[in-house]
Amino acid sequence: VALVGAGPGDPDLLTVRAAGLLAAADVVVHDALVGDGVLALAAPTAELIDVGKRPGNGVAQDLINLLLVRLAREGKQVVRLKGGDPFVFGRGGEEAVALAEAGIVCEVVPGITSAIAAPGAAGVPVTYRGLSASFTVVTGHRQRGESPVNWAALAQVGGTIVVLMGVAQRGDIAAALMAGGLSPDTPVAAVGSATTQSQHVVRCRLADLATTTVHAPATIVIGPVAALDVVAL
Ligand code: SAH
Repeated sequence: VALVGAGPGDPDLLTVRAAGLLAAADVVVHDALVGDGVLALAAPTAELIDVGKRPGNGVAQDLINLLLVRLAREGKQVVRLKGGDPFVFGRGGEEAVALAEAGIVCEVVPGITSAIAAPGAAGVPVTYRGLSASFTVVTGHRQRGESPVNWAALAQVGGTIVVLMGVAQRGDIAAALMAGGLSPDTPVAAVGSATTQSQHVVRCRLADLATTTVHAPATIVIGPVAALDVVAL
């Protein structure tokens, strides 16, 4: 089984290794965020299985793990294809553990994470000399049993905050960051469906994030760099 990152959307942003594995796959087990352009690179004979988790439905993680183990035991070349990088909020780590526990050899193929590609597609560099010396990638969506994000601490770091899965909670996130000391005037850029035909960028102040319309999937960038558009200069 290869745990493969599909990149942010544009098939041209796949790695050469990912494209090669897709072309040779018997089965591709993919998420909802993997676009048709990427799936089109799978072998014509490959079976495509959509296990995408969407709000309220989707296949439970335990079943995905069992499916991967079963397919591997059938002797199939399995590509487990995940949006962005497989180990950035994709639960790829859990799948790797499940495969290892079942004694199945697993190859990890990194992908370009939307945490960096989405800001970049909007002309926002996540670091910039004099403006931001660090970036923190954080989830805006907490699962039961996970420790809460320390937004007050993040507000004090002074670098760029990149929020994935944060559209629904953006008002609460903005409030928590401002309560932690981040200025209401802090620039925000939300980049939706980055590197696809429907890419859209919304910019606002942190204080206005709650009332600004943002369509998922989007990556929300918070910090001084979010005011930049270095590509459109
Ligand atoms: N493993 C993925 C992230 C999975 S979490 C990666 O490395 O990119 C899913 C979240 O990623 C979405 O809620 C959204 O915040 C972000 N995302 C994924 N694709 C995106 C895209 N094309 N444009 C903007 N954000 C995207």
